Amino acid sequence: MRLSKFFLPVLKETPSEAKIISHQLMLRAGMVRQGAAGIYSWLPLGHRVLRKIEQIVREEQNRAGAVEMLMPTIQSADLWRESGRYEAYGKEMLRITDRHDREMLFGPTNEELITEIVRSGVRSYKDLPKMLYHIQWKFRDEIRPRFGVMRGREFLMKDTYSFDLTPDEARKSYYKMFAAYLRTFARMGLRSVPMRAETGPIGGDLSHEFIVLADTGESEVFCHKGLVDMAVPSANTDFDGDLVGIFNERTSLYAATDEMHDETEFNKVPEANRLSARGIEVGHIFYFGTKYSEAMKCSVNGPDGKPSFIEMGSYGVGVSRLVGAIIEAYHDENGCKWPVPVAPFHVGLINLKTGDAETERVCTELYQKLEAQGVEVLYDDTSARAGEKFATMDLIGLPYQIVIGPRGLKNGVIEVKNRNDGAKDELPPDAAFAYVTDAIKKALELA
Ligand code: ATP
Ligand code: MG
Repeated sequence: MRLSKFFLPVLKETPSEAKIISHQLMLRAGMVRQGAAGIYSWLPLGHRVLRKIEQIVREEQNRAGAVEMLMPTIQSADLWRESGRYEAYGKEMLRITDRHDREMLFGPTNEELITEIVRSGVRSYKDLPKMLYHIQWKFRDEIRPRFGVMRGREFLMKDTYSFDLTPDEARKSYYKMFAAYLRTFARMGLRSVPMRAETGPIGGDLSHEFIVLADTGESEVFCHKGLVDMAVPSANTDFDGDLVGIFNERTSLYAATDEMHDETEFNKVPEANRLSARGIEVGHIFYFGTKYSEAMKCSVNGPDGKPSFIEMGSYGVGVSRLVGAIIEAYHDENGCKWPVPVAPFHVGLINLKTGDAETERVCTELYQKLEAQGVEVLYDDTSARAGEKFATMDLIGLPYQIVIGPRGLKNGVIEVKNRNDGAKDELPPDAAFAYVTDAIKKALELA
């Protein structure tokens, strides 16, 4: 992509309304723009990150055996009356009346709608298990939308719903999502820690929040340090196999958010291993049994011919929140430092002297060669000053910068900078091409 054609409205000043670094950087780097409190437009740069995160979430859901679909944002109030949640949800729900005076709502979550779909689509226990998910915008009229996309009112969520015949089977579905989430966040460069959590208005018995540790996180959390460095399930994990080991290994160590925190239990952890910190909730999984299936009469005929209510769970990932969470984890005083798998582009190519024939030629050739290898390049072909180009590239935080100008070319070299550690190398163009292509490919290989 040529910068001259792209739309990158960067800001010089830090907007005063932004209190945390990710919000500041997202505004400054021209990733989002607020339309109304807690409601954002995703500008081209931010949109590219959002789509990459979404795609990683999707790939790991598919790997775990969940099946993608898409439900609408607007739902009928009637379904929510069946579950009893229409009144219970309170002011967080955005209620809408259509022209025929029918009560509608902008979905804050989808348990009711998916239960309605499944109850009319399955008959027999042979139709189970099923895991269905979608990635769709949600609306919750939060009292205090803040921290930019981290606590928005409109936000993008991946939500999965599992349907099983027995509680034992339902636990297996829960373990699948548990393992899938560990992989999902790790692929974005995030170490997530599953923590015992309260079930809240979704209800149920078993629940874990996936927390990314960050000083600016909204949740206060307590855990055994061993959880932070634990290896993530590999890409070869057999999701049809037994995953209870992955679950037990983690849940045997103490980890809880403040609502579930038990000081006495925590103090049993050796002092050197106790970690109390702040964290960002990036995912939340629930097993709630027959709470919705009973209320909404969603059943199948069992092997004995008798109807039984389906065992259910639901599993959310905050896709748009993750954009902010990743910046909180990867930035410095000059801007973002994107991990390769979620970077809006892999490489920023800077032309230091537009109009100079040789510089133009080398830039264009490298740009085309990199793109042909699947390396995503943002090519700064504008006539801005060098200092401004460097500052913008650091701000938007692409993993590699390649700087090309007449002075270097006289000696046959161009500069490659690694945004993550700041290391700079002067290399002939071919060597720079090989080095960057290789580094990007390696970083995209699945762990
Ligand atoms: P929170 O405790 O942060 O308000 P929640 O427990 O109400 O979140 P869930 O119903 O568990 O949220 O939603 C699943 C995921 O969606 C959360 O783990 C979070 O990552 C994301 N999410 C929830 N609310 C918001 C929001 N207002 N803005 C952005 N993401 C959100
Ligand atoms: Mg939650």
